[in-house]
Amino acid sequence: MNGQYQQNAEKLNKLANPPARYKINSDSRKRFASKVLALTGILQTTLETNELIALFGKELRKFVNFDGIVYQLPELEINIELGHQSPHHCDYQLVVSSEELGDLQLFRFYPFKESELEIIENLMAGLLYPLRNALLYYRALQTALIDPLTGVKNRATMDTAIHREIELARRQDTTLSVILLDIDHFKQVNDQYGHLSGDQALRAIAQCANRTIRDSDMLFRYGGEEFLVLLTGTDSEGALQLAERIRENVEQLNPHKHETMALTVSLGVTSLEPDDDSSALFQRADKALYQAKQKGRNRVIAN
Ligand code: GH3
Ligand code: MG
Ligand code: MG
Repeated sequence: MNGQYQQNAEKLNKLANPPARYKINSDSRKRFASKVLALTGILQTTLETNELIALFGKELRKFVNFDGIVYQLPELEINIELGHQSPHHCDYQLVVSSEELGDLQLFRFYPFKESELEIIENLMAGLLYPLRNALLYYRALQTALIDPLTGVKNRATMDTAIHREIELARRQDTTLSVILLDIDHFKQVNDQYGHLSGDQALRAIAQCANRTIRDSDMLFRYGGEEFLVLLTGTDSEGALQLAERIRENVEQLNPHKHETMALTVSLGVTSLEPDDDSSALFQRADKALYQAKQKGRNRVIAN
């Protein structure tokens, strides 16, 4: 078994309050080996991380009682919280062949016994490889959906997202707005500072826009230096205010500390109207963006 756990010993010692140490003799080890194998078989039925953790929790509960389970992998922004986070918890850092697979915590109203911790550790062996596979799958999906230069969603996901959000807005009778953003005179930025600096500026602007929007808003890079923000549940007034905040924040950026690179963006804003399909919505925003360029750039126009 290559997998290993790095327990948070301090927390475990504090919380577990162990009775006589539980020993797995060779018979029980064999019994456990078959349980681990069976568990791995069950867990291999899914590649979806949420589902995997839920399934693991369900199987583990057959052996040890607990109230909640939390799985986190900050590097991939994965945070799965199931059940209640009661006062006592045991924490595990999951590692396979020096590859970090994240942290798993189990919560309970009363302390875990040493014997239970041992069962948990044994069964966790069955989680490691299915989890590694699920994370590989997750990373592959992310790669297909994320623009590698800026780290925001790419064009391939944008069309699907717009269609889906228009459907949802219609069904739930909610507002939906879009902002189109185009960097001003970006060709000049490249010409003056070089393409690498241009790339750096692109990244800085994408990250700036991403920091400015809410978690529920979606940012896509749909062209070379063109971005779209999809705002569910936001009316034209809200979208206009957000676009103005993005414009102001970009104006404050200075990605090249030693040189003064004036970076500005123009933005076109529009909101879903009753007869809109996705292309009508996009075209209206594009028209607003065009007007923002015409009127001198570094500004927001709503249409
Ligand atoms: P405008 O204010 O009218 O938008 O002027 P502009 O120069 O930004 O417009 P134009 O569309 O003519 O040029 C866009 C430039 O963006 C051209 C291209 O060199 C640059 N560009 C597009 N994608 C990338 C990229 O990935 N990296 C870099 N460095 N530059 C890019
Ligand atoms: Mg452009
Ligand atoms: Mg441009």
